[in-house]
Amino acid sequence: MTALFQQLPSVDKLLNASQGQQLTTKFGHSAVVGVCRALLQQSRQFIQQNRRLPDFLIQDQAVFAEIERRLLRQSQVQIKSVHNLTGTVLHTNLGRALWAESAQRAALTAMGENVALEYDLEAGKRSHRDNYISELIHQLTGAEAACVVNNNAAAVLLMLATFAQGKEVIISRGELIEIGGAFRIPDIMAQAGCKLVEVGTTNRTHLTDYRNAINENTAFLMKVHSSNYQICGFTGEVAEHQLVELGREFNLPVISDLGSGALTDLSRYNLPKEPTVQEKFAQGVDLISFSGDKLLGGPQAGIIAGKKELIRQLQSHPLKRVLRCDKVILAGLEATLRLYLQPEKLAEKLTSLHLLTQPVEQLQRQAERLKAKLESVLNDEFSMQIEASSAQIGSGSQPMARIPSVAVTIAEKSSQKLTALLTRFKRLSSPIIARVENNKIWLDLRSLADLEKLLTALDELN
Ligand SMILES: *Cc1c(COP(=O)(O)O)cnc(C)c1O
Repeated sequence: MTALFQQLPSVDKLLNASQGQQLTTKFGHSAVVGVCRALLQQSRQFIQQNRRLPDFLIQDQAVFAEIERRLLRQSQVQIKSVHNLTGTVLHTNLGRALWAESAQRAALTAMGENVALEYDLEAGKRSHRDNYISELIHQLTGAEAACVVNNNAAAVLLMLATFAQGKEVIISRGELIEIGGAFRIPDIMAQAGCKLVEVGTTNRTHLTDYRNAINENTAFLMKVHSSNYQICGFTGEVAEHQLVELGREFNLPVISDLGSGALTDLSRYNLPKEPTVQEKFAQGVDLISFSGDKLLGGPQAGIIAGKKELIRQLQSHPLKRVLRCDKVILAGLEATLRLYLQPEKLAEKLTSLHLLTQPVEQLQRQAERLKAKLESVLNDEFSMQIEASSAQIGSGSQPMARIPSVAVTIAEKSSQKLTALLTRFKRLSSPIIARVENNKIWLDLRSLADLEKLLTALDELN
């Protein structure tokens, strides 16, 4: 074994070889040294375990190809483009909403250039970074003003910390929800230093339950949209307008965490209906919070909209500074909201709505092209079919509702072969993320953003 160890080159020897110097010129000294050290360390372990040299040290020059391969891989971004064929359009694990083109352009400008972020060009003086969004939310929903933070979880935290620290918040037991990724309403309440007062039961809560819980320590009444689950059967909840009436009686604000925050009525597009921000305001709610990257179709953000005086208090809380958005997000969000000023064009320009509203016939044609391509690159190993599928919105919007879709399904008697194919899909330079159901791979076209790009990517399987 000692003889094998002696055959290992030193870092200096690698660096001083002409190929080593070429790599240093291309990637810089430190990166090449780092990769060489790691490679030699791994080679020592390899020799100990296998009692032979690794292949890249046996062949002449192969070691430099290996070093370069590692250096290239090191500089590749791992948060890379994937093809979403899961059938879930707003997929949290795949980054939720795709930005509209105009939003991408606005964000790109903000990244590389100075922008009028906190500067009022007309008055020629300092302004607030949330002003443009606040004005747009006012135009679109009738809310007096708005405040923008990092995400909707942050929005809820800020509302609780501002208005209910050391006080009580009344909420129905049917709304004590957990959203994936450790967002639980009771935990957020504890973080914000307020006391949660649960009323009613899991399936039914009445107005009197809220009334009986009100005392001099109550800060506000809260509604939380149940988002990712649904209660069926013998159920009952108190509508916002009833809570608003009760709140007025005791001079208490009503705050609603809407989650998805649709700004347009989806039933207009024959999609499952989600409550809109406008409908909640029409019921008299004082503050509403919602996400920017769910049905709204923009960047990750949390928007709080409502009464001017309450927004002013939120803006002056120290946590707002911690949770505020940067120029890139604000530019993307502003451009996204501007699309809502032209409602007839929305389904064409807002990417997530475009995906959700694609006609089934169009998905059918896409499926035919995808199937033909797969048949040409996968030979006759697998049996493929075009089947009706059901897609979903995702991100907690209408969890039970299904949207008609079309999928290419891939079946094979041995499940090992299917697993191997999924691995090949995942190793593509832009990987395919599929759904597995009933021993078949489902490639659902509803959530796919770019068919042409997918078809090109599939050439790598050849
Ligand atoms: C999604 C959701 C949240 C969390 O929003 P993020 O933007 O993901 O932080 C909070 N409340 C409700 C009701 C939700 O649906």
